[in-house]
Amino acid sequence: MPHVISQACCNDASCVFACPVYCIHPSPDEPDFATTEMLYIDPDACVDCGACVRACPVDAIYPDTALPAVQLPFIEINKSYYPKRAEGVKLPPTSKLAPILPAAELHQRGKYPLTVAIVGSGPAAMYAADELLTQPGVLVNMFEKLPTPYGLVRAGVAPDHQHTKLVTRLFDEISWRRGFSFFLNVEIGKHLSHADLLEHHHAVLYASGALHDRRLEIDGMDLPGTGTATELVGWYNGHPDFVDVPVDLSHERVVIVGNGNVALDVARILTCNPDKLADTDIADHALAVLRESRVQEVVIVARRGPIDSAFTLPELVGLTQAVDVVLDAEDHARVRNDLATVRDNFTRQKLEILAKLGDASAPIVKPRIRFAYGLTPARVLGESRPTAMEFTVTGTEEVRVIDAGLVLTSIGYHGTPIADLPFDDDAGVVPNEGGRVVDPTTGQRVPGAYVSGWIKRGTNGFIGTNKSDSLMTIQTLAADYNAGLLREPSTGPRAVARMVHARQPDVIDAAGWKAIDKAEIARGDSQDRPRVKFTRVPDMLDEVTDYSDVPLLQNLLGALRRS
Ligand code: NAP
Repeated sequence: MPHVISQACCNDASCVFACPVYCIHPSPDEPDFATTEMLYIDPDACVDCGACVRACPVDAIYPDTALPAVQLPFIEINKSYYPKRAEGVKLPPTSKLAPILPAAELHQRGKYPLTVAIVGSGPAAMYAADELLTQPGVLVNMFEKLPTPYGLVRAGVAPDHQHTKLVTRLFDEISWRRGFSFFLNVEIGKHLSHADLLEHHHAVLYASGALHDRRLEIDGMDLPGTGTATELVGWYNGHPDFVDVPVDLSHERVVIVGNGNVALDVARILTCNPDKLADTDIADHALAVLRESRVQEVVIVARRGPIDSAFTLPELVGLTQAVDVVLDAEDHARVRNDLATVRDNFTRQKLEILAKLGDASAPIVKPRIRFAYGLTPARVLGESRPTAMEFTVTGTEEVRVIDAGLVLTSIGYHGTPIADLPFDDDAGVVPNEGGRVVDPTTGQRVPGAYVSGWIKRGTNGFIGTNKSDSLMTIQTLAADYNAGLLREPSTGPRAVARMVHARQPDVIDAAGWKAIDKAEIARGDSQDRPRVKFTRVPDMLDEVTDYSDVPLLQNLLGALRRS
């Protein structure tokens, strides 16, 4: 009864280090870790101890006999990572363990303990805090523009992927550790500057992600009824900046340009039965619009062929289990051609799934998704709203038109410059060496500035990929600290809170976030939902104010419990 890693795998590799027989790969030291779509358990080496199950932060690992039916394809997917062996072969248990990445060791210098400002509160930020707080005495101050933490886990992960959101249990636990402070609802660049942070900290680590999506510069993309998939993601996840995005689903077809995992998320949410979303944390306004939707088909259009599909195998498996997905005859032929030439094992598995999809000529009986390949976007047609999108067959001048009332692009995210730091606009990242910010014009380090996550390496990987990425940045930061390259803050730790309160009286701390969190969960209780989100900042602030009205003793007890 070997264990199996399923679709929700976050790649943070906690399972790899928990496994007593090193049967989960790739491990972070192996070359394909950086590009792997998930981690895989070797069924012939697994000793069935369950240590990986306990270590996984998103409950993605099951004994093969207990896998939910929709996850059954993952038995074969895990197995296919390893060499083919004769049936029934069991490898002898080894006592080998995965090589542990060494924790960053600090040698205390100066008057104050190492004090680090982290900007952003998504996975890269939380994993960086986790790593720093393994060292006694270290102080971490985390700054976040929104009143709620955890970045794309709250505002990016699709509501029907609740397993993935379980990683917030780990993030909560990190935020309760001694030495950690939240400064939520504080915007760097508005309330505080980089210089302000540097004055009060040894180092400032930016883990602010890549907020903006790449735009498609073609005619018609400014019409109402066009937009980006990420705007829709923010809208259905209740991100305050996207609550008022006008989403009109009163027509039958949506076109999404680009076929990465974000496009799949959006297409799935637009086509799945709204009743299936009703017990998730989807924003109420989005659920109401989806219930009235007249959309019958979402066409996900790629400029290249099936072999170059940007979505991952685990997400394709999940998609085809959740909704009807079809291809037209021309694209079925492309899949067959690609199958004849494909070499990579996991791409072959993707193509095999595509080959089995239904034909688009079948009548539409319920909302479905159609993949379309080899079409380069040319322009959006329509006067006041889109009526169709025009493409050329890639590499030719042959024109194809797909009728649609909503046109979304999903062509990747792009980092935005951070005030006072250098920026590589082509790559959308802050230039760095191992996380240490470097000015490309001089080749010199920018004193005290570090990066982690998408703003460091570009927009690739999964939630857990940020664990090893942040660990590397913290190792660099620790080495600089130990070498005496970081300047002592000019004030003691308490001065930070005083400065922040002076600049932003509505700053929210961990207790304030807990109040918002508790209120959202309580709102969800009666509806059997994990939470009902507040989607407007004033409503979030009201909860914090209400919380601060409860008797002082209760607040003190709460703070003691958290410390
Ligand atoms: P992505 O995976 O980079 O996909 C971008 C898509 O846009 C590709 O199909 C690309 O086609 C296409 N594209 C780019 N420029 C184009 C242009 N000018 N015209 C037409 N098409 C264009 O981006 P993403 O979907 O935003 O995902 C970002 C990262 O987040 C990925 O690492 C993804 O795996 C991750 N993510 C993961 C999950 C999950 O695990 N559930 C969910 C969401 C996001 P070409 O390939 O031809 O360039």
